[in-house]
Amino acid sequence: MNSIKGHPHVWGGLFLALAWAFPLLAQEEHFSREEVAHGFGTDPSFTHLPSTAIDTDDVPNMVIPADVPADEPLPTYKLAENTWFFYGNIAEVDENNRGWNGNAGFVVTSEGVVVIDSLGTPKLGKRMIATIRRVTDKPIRMLIITHNHPDHAYGAIAFRDLPGITIVGHKGTLKYLESDRIDHSVSYRSTFIAEDMEGFEPVRPDVLIDDALYSRQTFRVGDRTFHVYNTGAHHSYGDLVVHQVEDGIVWISDLAFNGRVTFMADGSSKAAIAAQEWLLEHFSEARLMVPGHGSAQTPEFPMVARTRDYMMRLRKAMAEAFEAGLELQEAVEQGDFEDWKKVRLYGLNHRPNLNFVYREMEQELF
Ligand SMILES: [Zn+2]
Repeated sequence: MNSIKGHPHVWGGLFLALAWAFPLLAQEEHFSREEVAHGFGTDPSFTHLPSTAIDTDDVPNMVIPADVPADEPLPTYKLAENTWFFYGNIAEVDENNRGWNGNAGFVVTSEGVVVIDSLGTPKLGKRMIATIRRVTDKPIRMLIITHNHPDHAYGAIAFRDLPGITIVGHKGTLKYLESDRIDHSVSYRSTFIAEDMEGFEPVRPDVLIDDALYSRQTFRVGDRTFHVYNTGAHHSYGDLVVHQVEDGIVWISDLAFNGRVTFMADGSSKAAIAAQEWLLEHFSEARLMVPGHGSAQTPEFPMVARTRDYMMRLRKAMAEAFEAGLELQEAVEQGDFEDWKKVRLYGLNHRPNLNFVYREMEQELF
């Protein structure tokens, strides 16, 4: 099988057999009640899984029932012989996706499993572990949290007590854990997916990455090498990029978005643009980049330049508005990007992004 295709793997006897025998059927049909009962855990009347998770604009639409057991595996896509991908919805967190609105993945090495990100709730973290257990009985040796945002980090508590695990995160995570941001975000999630947030606790990484910008720390697990790069606080309180060296896969987290508009609430547009340039310069030889949102991508990795261009345009528009003496609200109201209007989450994120960048410009230009 060509491993780069990344077909969805859904754990459950009947569906698995069907999916292998009739891949086209699996692509186009919604899932039956039986398939849901056999380990898929989403509402078949809404659920859609794209046929591939690489180089596609098709995104999952998973509707997860509140009462799905925590030991029920999640659907995955295979990105390489040893690499599995949890391809998330592109949406705000809601009662349907139950906090699964970002990506994560795991790599099975000769000595154990390395997990990249933990999805958005303790329950999803547990379901990730259940999924890994269907693939291998090797120990889960490491969890790398690319940044502190809920959709990437709130499942981490499920991994905390696994024997022998090392949790790696950016030093900025500590600042987040001490801020009032975390309390707001946890209570926001708990208002509508309380069951899924049960058992939530902030997780302090065992290993903190805080070396110079773009420097890397090397982790060797079995036959695989992971370079974890500090890419600064471009999107959160501290962001990491993970290079899975032998497999040529780069987990870029929220340094670029595929098929949706970015969201700027922390971080810095200037730092993000610099980090995007760094990424393109240093990983042009990579086989695959995996973003925090949207499908994985092969070279030339157009999502990176596209996200960069969007941010540069925000900066230009808001710098001009500021220099022309426009007030914040006026600047934001005039800041629509017609050609971006059809991109997912534009309606929700574009104006807040303008707002964020206008304030940056105020700081930079004043
Ligand atoms: Zn994210």
